[in-house]
Amino acid sequence: MGSFLDDVNQRIDGVDIQNCYHCQKCTSGCPMAQVMDFKPNEIIRMVQAGRKDALLRSSAIWLCASCETCVTRCPNAVDIPRLIDVLREMSLEAGVVPQEREVVQFHESFLGTVKRGGRVNEPLMIVSFKIKTGTYFNDVIVGLKMFMKGKLSLFSPRTKNMQAIRRIFRSTAKS
Ligand code: SF4
Ligand code: SF4
Repeated sequence: MGSFLDDVNQRIDGVDIQNCYHCQKCTSGCPMAQVMDFKPNEIIRMVQAGRKDALLRSSAIWLCASCETCVTRCPNAVDIPRLIDVLREMSLEAGVVPQEREVVQFHESFLGTVKRGGRVNEPLMIVSFKIKTGTYFNDVIVGLKMFMKGKLSLFSPRTKNMQAIRRIFRSTAKS
């Protein structure tokens, strides 16, 4: 069995994270670093040091906004958002209860509607998220204001090629 670092590098299938020389340019530009329990460059260090359990249980892996600022700033093109996706996958596979449970529930609601219609359906996604989290009345006023301004559409047409969508979901499903 390979090391944690080997496993991660194999899944990333891109730039080896050993290329990181800890200049911290990623962390200094990250909009979420202030609220993360481990900063982006610390995440790299922890993978190198084999601190798998701490990382898979961290809130940082769920707070990343996938904005790609870090990889854009990195002099070595280390793809931290991809690394964080890999850590999320590993965390779910390991059955870890995520610290940021609502973030995971949002991902599930989002993907659920894409799976049904090939694109996101906002009303369905909101209903699914509310049911999962039990937060039925949070943000009702904001939601109404958005609706009145036309920022939330009630209808979302299905994509024409649903076969392709099903193929994508099948190919990414775990056996
Ligand atoms: S910017 Fe790149 S090289 Fe610098 S610490 Fe972050 S990942 Fe490492
Ligand atoms: S992709 Fe994630 S880690 Fe990178 S800068 Fe954005 S929020 Fe921070």
